[in-house]
Amino acid sequence: MPGRVIFVSAGPGAADLITLRGARALSQADVVLADALADPALRELAPQARWIAVGKRGFEHSAKQTEINALLVKAAQQHALVVRLKGGDASIFGRLEEELIALAQAGIDSEVVPGVTAALAAAAQARRPLTRRGRGRSVSLTTAMTEAGELRAARSADTEVFYMAGRQLAALGRQLLAAGWAPETYTLVVSRAGCVDAICSEHALADLGRAAVLHRGRPTVVTVGTGASLVGDQDRPASASNKIAVSPEISATQAPITAKS
Ligand code: SAH
Repeated sequence: MPGRVIFVSAGPGAADLITLRGARALSQADVVLADALADPALRELAPQARWIAVGKRGFEHSAKQTEINALLVKAAQQHALVVRLKGGDASIFGRLEEELIALAQAGIDSEVVPGVTAALAAAAQARRPLTRRGRGRSVSLTTAMTEAGELRAARSADTEVFYMAGRQLAALGRQLLAAGWAPETYTLVVSRAGCVDAICSEHALADLGRAAVLHRGRPTVVTVGTGASLVGDQDRPASASNKIAVSPEISATQAPITAKS
């Protein structure tokens, strides 16, 4: 009889952002198939498991998805409990659909444990709520990249959070301006959200390209619109000066990311 697969959402990088339910599944796992973005410290939560890194990262992942599906099915045929550990929330840009289909086709039972997605970790990191009473009623989570690898961005909510745009911030900014966002729209860029070395920077949308150097090579989300604005500062347009805060200093001092002018 085949075993079961639990998809565990690891959170955005720091091990302590996993849920208790996810940690419990890890502690009982025989095998863990882990994404590259998962914190190695999570390994300590699965002392008895065989840990297999299935390194999916950025643009290199697509060729490997079928191999991962096959590995997952094989592991579940050989073990009682397999954990498939995914960065952030498993349901958000995590190729969960493909893996669920592969398991269903093989007659293997599965469960999904939710977690903290990067957009939420970024909002928490910067202390900028994604929804705002009366002004920010909707949030969209969007991948900036189409399946064909093209950048695409529009305007569909009061607050938009873009994933997978880290390498193309300037182009993302230009597309958002073309889509009708005002040049002074608040834009928040957070890389390695939730981790001790997280970096947040604030920009006017027209200056988004300036964030590229600061966040280069790091997993990055871009929040645009109401939810990117500084708390209590709703009437101020985003400044063009793009002052920068690097955590943990910002969480220690509660200093605004950009000084009021
Ligand atoms: N399932 C994940 C997203 C996977 S797609 C989640 O729910 O968060 C990978 C993209 O997620 C990266 O390109 C980046 O845009 C974003 N990302 C992942 N971890 C991040 C982090 N700690 N900080 C900022 N962005 C992150």
